[in-house]
Amino acid sequence: MFKNLIAGEWVEGARVSRNINPSDTRDVVGEYAQADAAQARQAVAAATAAFPAWSLTTPQQRFDVLDAAGSEILARRAELGDLLAREEGKTLPEAIGEVVRAGNIFKFFAGEALRLSGDSVPSVRPGVGVEVTREPVGVVGLITPWNFPIAIPAWKLAPALAFGNTVVMKPADLVPGSAWALADILHRAGLPAGVFNLVMGRGSEVGAVLLDDARVNAISFTGSVATGQKVAAACVARMAKFQLEMGGKNPFVVLDDADLGVAVNAAINSGFFSTGQRCTASSRIIVTEGIHDRFVAAMVERMKTLKVDDARKAGTDIGPVVDEKQLAQDLDYIGIGRAEGATLAAGGEAIERNTDGAPGFYMRPALFTETTAAMRINTEEVFGPVVSVMRAKNYDEALALANDTPFGLASGIATTSLKHATHFKRHAQAGMVMVNLPTAGVDYHVPFGGRKGSSHGPREQGRYAAEFYTTVKTAYTQA
Ligand code: NAD
Repeated sequence: MFKNLIAGEWVEGARVSRNINPSDTRDVVGEYAQADAAQARQAVAAATAAFPAWSLTTPQQRFDVLDAAGSEILARRAELGDLLAREEGKTLPEAIGEVVRAGNIFKFFAGEALRLSGDSVPSVRPGVGVEVTREPVGVVGLITPWNFPIAIPAWKLAPALAFGNTVVMKPADLVPGSAWALADILHRAGLPAGVFNLVMGRGSEVGAVLLDDARVNAISFTGSVATGQKVAAACVARMAKFQLEMGGKNPFVVLDDADLGVAVNAAINSGFFSTGQRCTASSRIIVTEGIHDRFVAAMVERMKTLKVDDARKAGTDIGPVVDEKQLAQDLDYIGIGRAEGATLAAGGEAIERNTDGAPGFYMRPALFTETTAAMRINTEEVFGPVVSVMRAKNYDEALALANDTPFGLASGIATTSLKHATHFKRHAQAGMVMVNLPTAGVDYHVPFGGRKGSSHGPREQGRYAAEFYTTVKTAYTQA
């Protein structure tokens, strides 16, 4: 049984949850402790007690721990990637890529601990010096979703610890394995007791403690809009700092002048890889008239070649959906799209068993065509391998359709026109814009996040992460 880490001790939970492999539901990845509210409060107490000493450690001490953790993650990429693919269902190459990203994030923020700097500013008053410095925020609560089981915990944890905060982390219930592995690595890397606490458990119970406990100074949340709204309301009520990364309904525009191969590759990757379970997935493909029919035909041909199978099997392009509930939601949207009058050009069927006969939550990726902006499949986040194509008369109409959404995470375009690419980068209402590339935010050293209904608060990742995980102090000195 995998236990929670509270005040430097591995402790049993109030309940146990079974982590199930969505590629083969007979396979139990492990049994994981589930904390209750009282244990979550103990974790907050431990982080509160550990903060004064940890906040005054040297950057070298923090560098050493984070760098060691990064090295171990990278060295164990194959094993941790296998665990991740087994518990979440993304393919093995995708899972190993995510683990490598997590390792690199720890290495990057090890360096950021040393690079954190402030300003020294001349005062308007003679003989006075002004310094602007950054200090840790305090106890930080981290609440993470299931679709990036190691990268998202890493990109919250690494900066939190690098800048001297202490942490209580609640991972998603569906994927505790990768978060537990991370806790084990950090524990052995030499973090003092209480600096990092892992409390696996229910959002409504463990997550709610983090939102409501006055000792938690800041909350970093990634997940759905509905939960994000609860996080925001709770944090505002007690004036805690918070940042939210939430859903998307990301557009990918294909213009007449696009290279067809580039457009199809980017659309297939953006829409279907990781089983479409990425917040940056492109689920609305907006195609101008001159290339529309050729693009749709090429997509349908390419989709026939996609192998839907066990996530850990060599050659699998698309693994299973994460669980039964998500699969039911994806299939519901197939019915909704049809009922709204969209044409199902390819896929959309559930597959009950993989090629080895094992039961799992599989479905064939789906492409809807002849869809309109008002359809629910174009306004609501499905969070599965379901993509719809919309026609646009020209670039201007395509841009307007791309921006016609309450979300604003990622936005992509396939074009060979410098003029349109340049215009799109400036006018796409999204936090991340991709030209001739899939809409995934791959680089780990640059900011990641959105605008409009997708995000709230300072950006994550890269050096911009310091905005959230530090607070600024302005000090005046009379010499
Ligand atoms: P979710 O909102 O259901 O859960 C996210 C986390 O919040 C989980 O750990 C959950 O246990 C916890 N939680 C649930 N209820 C809570 C409550 N009342 N109080 C405190 N915590 C609570 O989301 P999910 O299904 O795990 O993830 C999928 C969503 O995440 C999608 O909408 C996706 O777009 C989004 N996502 C966004 C980004 C981004 O960076 N923008 C990245 C990945 C995923």
